[in-house]
Amino acid sequence: MTAAKKKYNVAIAGATGAVGGAMLDVLARRDFPLDELRLLASERSVGKTLTFKGKEIPVQLLSKDAFAGIDIALFSAGATRSFDFAPAAAAAGAVVIDNSSAYRMDPEIPLVVPEVNSHAIARYTKRGIIANPNCSTIQMLVALKPIHDKVRIKRIVVSTYQAVSGTGAKAIDELKQQILDYAAGKPMVHSVYPHQIAFNCLPQIDSFLDNGYTKEEMKMVNETRKMFEDPTIGVTATTVRVPVFYGHSESVNIETEKKITAAEVKALLKNAPGVQLVDEPTLGQYPMAIDCAGRFETLVGRIREDESIANGINLWVVSDNILKGAALNAVQIAEELIRDYL
Ligand code: NAP
Repeated sequence: MTAAKKKYNVAIAGATGAVGGAMLDVLARRDFPLDELRLLASERSVGKTLTFKGKEIPVQLLSKDAFAGIDIALFSAGATRSFDFAPAAAAAGAVVIDNSSAYRMDPEIPLVVPEVNSHAIARYTKRGIIANPNCSTIQMLVALKPIHDKVRIKRIVVSTYQAVSGTGAKAIDELKQQILDYAAGKPMVHSVYPHQIAFNCLPQIDSFLDNGYTKEEMKMVNETRKMFEDPTIGVTATTVRVPVFYGHSESVNIETEKKITAAEVKALLKNAPGVQLVDEPTLGQYPMAIDCAGRFETLVGRIREDESIANGINLWVVSDNILKGAALNAVQIAEELIRDYL
C-alpha cells in the first residue's frame, strides 16, 4: 500500500452522455477527493458547460493530449473512442477505467466489479487500463458472488428485461414518443430499435452472432467466466429489451454444486456488499425497476428453491443500469484504486 495522495485529478471522457452525467452525480454523491475535474467530449460539446457541485465546468475536446496531469480517466464515450484514446491516456500516466466493451475480454486487462473481484485491480499496471463490465453482468454477479463463494455455482440460466436507457438518450426519446403517439392515435415510428418498443418486448440486444445468440448474451457468458475466474461455469442467457426507462431486471436460475436452501440464500444476501434484500412477496414487496432508479444497491428478491432439480435456486435481480451498471461501478473501482494503489 502506498501513501495516500489527498486529492486526485480526474477526467471523464464522454462527460455529456447518459453515463458521463451519472459519473458526475456519483462523484459528487460519494464526495470523491477531487482536485481537478476535466470534462471531455466531442467537438459538438466544446463550448458547453456542465455543473458539478454548483460549479460550471467547461467541456473540452477529447484528444490524445487531453490527459496531461490526470490521475484517473473515466471513459464512457463508446468503444471506438476507447480504442483511439485510452492508450494515450494511460501513456500520459492516467489509470483508465473504461465503460465500453473495448477491452473487457483482453486477457491483459482486468475486468472488475469491486464486490466480486477487487483483487484483479492490481493487474492494472500492465496496460494502465481497467475494464468495467456489461451492465447486465454486473448486477447478476453482485447477487451471485456470495452464493458462489459458499456452494459453487455450476450453471446459470438468465433472462433479462432491460431498460431503454441502456441504449442511450435517443432510445429514451423513442419510447416516450411512441407512447405519446399511441395516446394521440397516431402511427408509432421507430429508428433506434428494429421494431416498436412501446408495449412490446424485443428479444434482441445488440447484433446476432453465428451461434444464434446476441453479443449481449455472450457478454454475460464470457464476462461471468472471466470475473469468477472459472472457465467451466455454464452460463446461458436470453437478453430482452422492454419498455422500461430505467432499471434492468433479471430472472436468474442457478444450479449449485452443494445444496443451499432459500432461507440460507436470503441470510447470505441480507449482509452481502452492494445488495439490498427485498423479499416479502406476501406483503407485495419484491424488487421492481421503478424502485431502483437513483439507488446504489442491487435489489434481490423472489428467492426460492427450484423444485425441478436437486440444487437449484431462483432469484429476481434489479439494478439501476446507469449507476451500478456503469457509473457507480467505475467510481467504486476508482475508490479502490486510490485506497490501495495510487
Ligand atoms: P451517450 O448518452 O450516447 O453518450 C456518448 C458520449 O460519448 C457523449 O459524451 C458524447 O459526446 C461522447 N462521444 C461520442 N462520440 C464522440 C467522439 N467522436 N469524440 C468524443 N466524444 C464522443 O451514451 P451512453 O449511454 O452514455 O454510453 C456511453 C458508453 O458507456 C458506451 O460505451 C456504452 O456502451 C457504455 N455503457 C453504457 C451503459 C448504459 O446503460 N447506457 C451501461 C454500461 C456502459 P457528445 O455529447 O459531444 O456527442
